[in-house]
Amino acid sequence: MHRIAILLSLALVLAAPATPRAQTAAPQQPTVLPEPPAEEEPAAQPPAPTESPTAPASEAPAEEKKGPIKRAIDAAKDVLGLKTAKELFSAVKRPTAGPVQVIGYYPRGCIQGAVELPITGPTWQHMRLSRNRNWGHPDLVNYIKKFSARAKQVTGWPGILVGDLGQPRGGPTPSSHTSHQTGLDVDIWFVPMPNRILTPQEREETSANNLVAESWKEINPKEYTPQHMAFVKAATEFPEVDRILINAAIKKKMCETATGDRRWLGKIRPWYGHHDHIHVRLKCPAGQTQCKGMASPPPDAEGCTDADFKFWFTKALEPKKPSTKPPKPLMLKDYPPACKAVLAAAPK
Ligand SMILES: [Zn+2]
Repeated sequence: MHRIAILLSLALVLAAPATPRAQTAAPQQPTVLPEPPAEEEPAAQPPAPTESPTAPASEAPAEEKKGPIKRAIDAAKDVLGLKTAKELFSAVKRPTAGPVQVIGYYPRGCIQGAVELPITGPTWQHMRLSRNRNWGHPDLVNYIKKFSARAKQVTGWPGILVGDLGQPRGGPTPSSHTSHQTGLDVDIWFVPMPNRILTPQEREETSANNLVAESWKEINPKEYTPQHMAFVKAATEFPEVDRILINAAIKKKMCETATGDRRWLGKIRPWYGHHDHIHVRLKCPAGQTQCKGMASPPPDAEGCTDADFKFWFTKALEPKKPSTKPPKPLMLKDYPPACKAVLAAAPK
């Protein structure tokens, strides 16, 4: 209580000399199911919806959005150490120098020495440039380059559209994801790359295709094509891939139609959302001793039985009870101590 009083008075003092100007109304967030939490175990209720990773960006550049009062509160929070981890990590625009080091767990970690995915390559284009989330471990960037070339071969598409990787120093993002914090996660859209270079504005405004029917139990035959299966199968065919998260209806369709060696199906795992993109998660790279991985999917289980889908076509589709309390935001103290140093380090 005392802290709040200090914060408010400090905010008022700091706000006083500034010229008032109109606040921009925050855009409505689309209600789309979110990213996977830590354990990839079916939860009784889906986590609270956040912005879709592929819906048009609703994030104006941070500085533009802030009026004088917001800026003052921001400054006061800085002084008092009250900033949330997502505020701290999203404010840093460049990676640290130094050798690459993954610290922590996909939904609770950070990265030192991240590298950048070029926003345009021969077989990929990165979307939502305003988010500054084209950073990750070099293995992730290499994976996207290799996979995009392979995807072109197997689908006949000119290339792929790449959504979020992570922030320059990882950590939690202000929108869209629970994970994507350690430079080992990337979203890739169910949309062929066009045969031309998209403008920055197009990369903000284009949306990905929803492949799932309104029932959420079947694919939408007007959207889903055999190329989508070739695309997903190709994404699994690199040993560094731990798993690929996808909507259950899409996995079910692939279970029904895949021929030949079907072991790749085991790497694709049903999860909430993921009807318009896949989420590729890499294993902890060799030598990354501070990286916390997860138990990989069993190598020989396709995950195609009725029991594998039961939860997803019953409980997971039930309407969500409105939660009474918003979840407590993560603070820097909730992170591995090394992430504090990552945040404070000089930029590359
Ligand atoms: Zn994702």
